Amino acid sequence: MTTIAFLGLGNMGGPMAANLVKAGHTVHGFDLVAEAVKTAEANGVTTFPSAVEAVAAAEVVITMLPSGPIVKNVYAEVLPVAPTGALFIDSSTISVDDAREIHQQATDNGFAQLDAPVSGGVKGATAGTLAFMVGGEDEAFLAARPTLEPMAGKVIHCGDAGAGQAAKVCNNMVLAVQQIAVGEAFVLAQKLGLSDQALFDVITGATGNCWAVQTNCPVPGPVPTSPANNEFKPGFATALMNKDLGLAMDAIASTGSRAPLGTHAAQLYKAFAEQHADLDFSAIITSLH
Ligand code: NAD
Repeated sequence: MTTIAFLGLGNMGGPMAANLVKAGHTVHGFDLVAEAVKTAEANGVTTFPSAVEAVAAAEVVITMLPSGPIVKNVYAEVLPVAPTGALFIDSSTISVDDAREIHQQATDNGFAQLDAPVSGGVKGATAGTLAFMVGGEDEAFLAARPTLEPMAGKVIHCGDAGAGQAAKVCNNMVLAVQQIAVGEAFVLAQKLGLSDQALFDVITGATGNCWAVQTNCPVPGPVPTSPANNEFKPGFATALMNKDLGLAMDAIASTGSRAPLGTHAAQLYKAFAEQHADLDFSAIITSLH
């Protein structure tokens, strides 16, 4: 079994670390917030007063942190002290450019490193069914698999460094556009006198079908488990969708790409997040009436 340093024990990192403990790994954790540390300890994680101490005996170092600048700071702290041969895995959602920069930093210090962002939310983190989108060298990917498995439903090797983050921003840009399109369709259908159930039955059996309607239906009724049935809570917070779209816009700018619909979706979510950051992102339908 492996000794794994886990840095960032928040909503996602906490349950992910707990699943590694359940799988029999030794997990050395660190977080800045006392409550996160306490919960991790209750789940069998051994915690340390600093990131440097948490990585001192690590064979694998996982980061699950809020942003690229924070990941870069933590890497700058721990790369000089990590044991020779340690494998670095960053599962935070950060920009493709930041992911490539930290990969280079790790390589310069003699370490293998992967970007491995996830989808599946806190539910998937708790159930151990996250989808991992992984970027980096083949050898590092093979070495990481046994560590990722207890947290994963699916692990996909997307390509070289940054490819995992690239896949994540592209997927979430599609999702944002689809959730708005589905919201627009339900609002229009209501105004045309069509019932929500009739539209749901037609779309889910036809060419407009997608996750945004089939699972995350933005009106109450057709899918009893969708956040719309519970005042749009809980779910995938608008704040997180807004963050991911910001990263997509960074990637569009840095590659000189054109994405008119993705860009418009990013503008709509930015405005919506100012008022409703904590609601599931399907709540955007309430701004479309
Ligand atoms: P969170 O804010 O709950 O957890 C982040 C944790 O990092 C916090 O506990 C914070 O105290 C800790 N932290 C911050 N700076 C630190 C440092 N220097 N050293 C150690 N710990 C530090 O956020 P989260 O929801 O767990 O998300 C983590 C990452 O996963 C983000 O990049 C997010 O975009 C991504 N993500 C989140 C979800 C989700 O549904 N919550 C889904 C997919 C991806």
